[in-house]
Amino acid sequence: MKYQTPSTTKEAAVLIKRERGKAFVLAGGTDLMVQMKSGLTEPDLVVDIKHISAMQSIKKSATGFRIGAAVSAAEMGENTALKKAWPGVVEAANLIGSDQIQNRCTIAGNLCNASPAADAVPALIAAGGKANIVGPQRRRTVAIEKVITGPGTTSLVKGEVVEAITLPKRPPKSGDAYLRFIPRSEMDIAVVGVGVSLTLGSNSVIKNARVALGAVAPTPLLVPAAVKAIVGTNLDKAALNKLAEACSAACNPIDDKRGTVEFRTEVAGVLAKRAAKIAYTRAGGK
Ligand SMILES: Cc1cc2nc3c(=O)[nH]c(=O)nc-3n(C[C@H](O)[C@H](O)[C@H](O)COP(=O)(O)OP(=O)(O)OC[C@H]3O[C@@H](n4cnc5c(N)ncnc54)[C@H](O)[C@@H]3O)c2cc1C
Repeated sequence: MKYQTPSTTKEAAVLIKRERGKAFVLAGGTDLMVQMKSGLTEPDLVVDIKHISAMQSIKKSATGFRIGAAVSAAEMGENTALKKAWPGVVEAANLIGSDQIQNRCTIAGNLCNASPAADAVPALIAAGGKANIVGPQRRRTVAIEKVITGPGTTSLVKGEVVEAITLPKRPPKSGDAYLRFIPRSEMDIAVVGVGVSLTLGSNSVIKNARVALGAVAPTPLLVPAAVKAIVGTNLDKAALNKLAEACSAACNPIDDKRGTVEFRTEVAGVLAKRAAKIAYTRAGGK
């Protein structure tokens, strides 16, 4: 197995594209190394992106935030401006594994590993996040909800590398939140995850929203019907009930020992209500 440490994203993309065998990006390695050790993945080439300077920082600009693909979840948690603007995204990243895992893992790796239960992904979708992708020939920007195409598969083609994830500027009177259900208190995979981001207009009426679900379908889901249930309301009981119904209706989960179809479907609605209430309060809603 070859191991490379390029210093630019383009170089990483070219190395992967040119490799005839199986080539993998290595970010934190908290998924990839586990897959390699268990024999699930046998790379011919591993391209370590932690040495690429364009991927190593969190930058705030007039248009929002740019989180480099090599930035760890722990670094996100230490960034006061990011935490203030997008608390839901940061709390999702800071739910991944343990302190040790968070010191290594990245949200771009969480996205590209393409688990239906990836914690950062529903929060990023709700936030309207985008992936900045660099290929050997061109760059492109893709909405987060368009990256994962199925369990373990993405819309990235060979040679394409996520260089950064961007989040829009936090609009006034807006807030986000992410909640997940796991069978034990930590170090477990989400049985359901819900991300909500919303913006208020006058009189605390919800003007815009995005609601995303994880672990209840083959890919994380953006749920337009859930948005319809709460936009134009003060998040009253009727709106919350409609939100829960819409989220449960969107579910198409697996049935396993960690959560039955019925359980996941019910919990999606319950967590959506709770996450929406937190986002609403964070937005200043009364
Ligand atoms: C003990 C433990 C607990 C965990 N707990 C959780 C949890 O609670 N919630 C959760 O969601 N996950 C959890 N995970 C899974 C894992 O930690 C996360 O998915 C993590 O975010 C992966 O990031 P990484 O940087 O380590 O990715 P890596 O392992 O480096 O990469 C993952 C995959 O994405 C590809 N990739 C990585 N970066 C890029 C890029 N920039 N461009 C293109 N492709 C890329 C890699 O080639 C690989 O296929 C856990 C893992 C362990 C070992």
